[in-house]
This record gives sequence, C-alpha cells and structure tokens, in this order.
Amino acid sequence: MIDYSNDKKKIVLIGAGLVGMSFAYALLGSHICEELGIIDIDKKRAEGEAMDLSHGLAFSGGNMKIYAAEYSDCFDADLAVICAGVPQKPGETRIDLLHNNAKVFEEIVSKVLASGFNGIFLVATNPVDVMTSLTRELSGFPANRVIGTGTTLDTARLRFLLGQYFAVDPRNVHAYVMGEHGDSEFVPWSQAYVSTKNVLAICAQEHGRFSKEELDDISYQVKTAAYKIIEAKRATYYGIGMALLRIARAILRNEGSVLTVSAYLQGEYGQADVNVGVPCVIGREGVRRVIELDLTKDEQEQFAKSCQFLRDVRKEI
Ligand code: NAD
Repeated sequence: MIDYSNDKKKIVLIGAGLVGMSFAYALLGSHICEELGIIDIDKKRAEGEAMDLSHGLAFSGGNMKIYAAEYSDCFDADLAVICAGVPQKPGETRIDLLHNNAKVFEEIVSKVLASGFNGIFLVATNPVDVMTSLTRELSGFPANRVIGTGTTLDTARLRFLLGQYFAVDPRNVHAYVMGEHGDSEFVPWSQAYVSTKNVLAICAQEHGRFSKEELDDISYQVKTAAYKIIEAKRATYYGIGMALLRIARAILRNEGSVLTVSAYLQGEYGQADVNVGVPCVIGREGVRRVIELDLTKDEQEQFAKSCQFLRDVRKEI
C-alpha cells in the first residue's frame, strides 16, 4: 500500500455559503489538511470568510494556509469540495433545485478541470446524487474519484436517534440509510444492529419496550429532518459540515472507513448507471469498494425504486 502520511494535503472548497463554511470551520480543528482555498462566485465573500477563519487559527492547535482561491489553485488539490448552488427553501424538495444547480455545476466543473486538477471531487450540493452523477459525467473522472455526501448525514441522524431509542452510544449502533438523499431513501432494518444484535430481534425479544412501529417512526423522522430544520431555521449546515469533514478525513488519511456516500453503481445490488447512497469503503483512492449488504426482497425493491427515481431525474437535465 502507498504511504501517504507525509503528503501535504490541500482542499479547495467551492461555495462559501452556510454548508461550505460549516465544513471549513470544522476543518480548522481537525488538522487533516495544510492548505484550504475558498472559491465563491461572490469573491468578496470568499475573501471575508478566509480572513475570518484565519483569525481562529491561533487557537486551533495547528497550522493551515487559508485563502480566497482562484480556480487555477485547484491544480494540485487533493480534494475539490463542491457546496455551491441554490439551497432548499421551505416547502421545496431537493429535486426542485435541479435545473439551477446543474447550470452552476457545468461552469464549476469545467473551471476546476481547466486547472489540471487530478484529485477527488466531493459533492454536497443538492440534489446530491444527481449532482454527483453530473460531476462524474462532466469531468470524465473514474467513478471512484467522484463522491457525493449521499446518505452520510441521514445515516448519522439515524444512528443518533437509534442511540437515543435504545439508550446506547450511537457509535455502537450499526445501521444505514440507503438510496436517494431525499424522499425515496429507506432504512434496511434487516441490516441494522446494536452491537452485533439485529434491532428487529431486539424488538421481538423485548416486545412492549421496543417495537418495529417505533423504528419506522424513527426512519420517518430521519427522512423529514431536513424539512423540519429548514422550516425552523431556514437551512441545515452543521450536520452536513461534519459529514463532509468525516468523508474528507477518511480520504486524506486513507482510513478505509465505511460511509454511505453517493457512489456509482456498476452492477452492485443489481443496479447500474446511477450514483446513490450505499455503504462504501472510503480511502485515499476515494471509493475503494461498494459493500453489498444482504438485503431482503422488500428492501431490494425499495432500493431499486430509489435508483430508478434517480435515473429518471437525471434524464430531466
Ligand atoms: P448558501 O446559499 O448559503 O451557499 C451557496 C453558495 O454558493 C453561495 O455563497 C453562493 O454565492 C455560491 N455560489 C452560487 N453559484 C456559484 C457559482 N457558480 N460558483 C461559485 N459559487 C457559487 O447555500 P447552503 O445552505 O450552503 O447550501 C449549499 C448546497 O448544499 C445546497 O444545494 C443545499 O441544498 C446543499 N445541502 C446539502 C446537504 C446534504 O446532505 N448533501 C445538506 C444541506 C444542504
């Protein structure tokens, strides 16, 4: 295996809005890169954000070069993280953002490529699965080097809620949200565990205390969390900022972590030609491997429906 431990790590962030800057702020304390370039269509905003963030460096316990970047700065970046675009408004679905954000991406990806960039694209902009597909197509990069945040955040929300429900540390909850980061996502309960015990078995054994109905309510809460947060405070950004940091760390530190990113399927789960949230092993090369869980027939059908929905939406652009 190649040793990347002495590499200087560089990230270019495109989109200095709430999501981008939440990620950037989280980066400050993480020490996973030595250089952070910030690009925004509003150059002044990128400059202000770079200044403000730099002033926190003295208390961050590490060193980092932070600056308002040009697209030409992408040439030697390890990661181009795209958070640019229009966010959801109250009542809008993520799919409503499609046409606007597709235009934004055509411009951004071509400018990043013109720099000679040869790293990994990490996409957060919604609808994230479709924007990731688009980035893969526009860039012509190998599929493993174009990653969307997918259902990483939804999975974090699920583990948090299951942790509360079963009164265990979410780190000991092993469960995933799969499919579209959006309304057709689902939880394969057959593959959800507390420690090494399946949650459905826990419900069967401790009936009266835990139930499948309550698990389904948790999955509904996960699916609708973004709508609730947007209604309350207009946007969601801390959670996705941390999700981006988690994925970036897995890549830059070559961790081999399992995360439900939006990956390109080429026959896995019987699906092809779609970027969708599935558990993947993430390392320095991006998506090292898609993990194929043993889904039940019903779960396979839900997953197939979600994939078909994403393929249909992709055709709209
Ligand atoms: P925001 O409006 O705060 O920030 C968007 C930024 O993009 C702005 O600073 C804007 O100037 C910039 N921008 C627009 N067009 C650009 C271009 N052509 N080139 C460079 N910069 C450009 O929005 P936000 O709240 O940060 O959300 C950003 C995106 O992230 C949205 O699409 C939102 O839906 C998505 N999001 C994704 C997740 C997830 O789980 N994947 C979670 C939350 C939000």
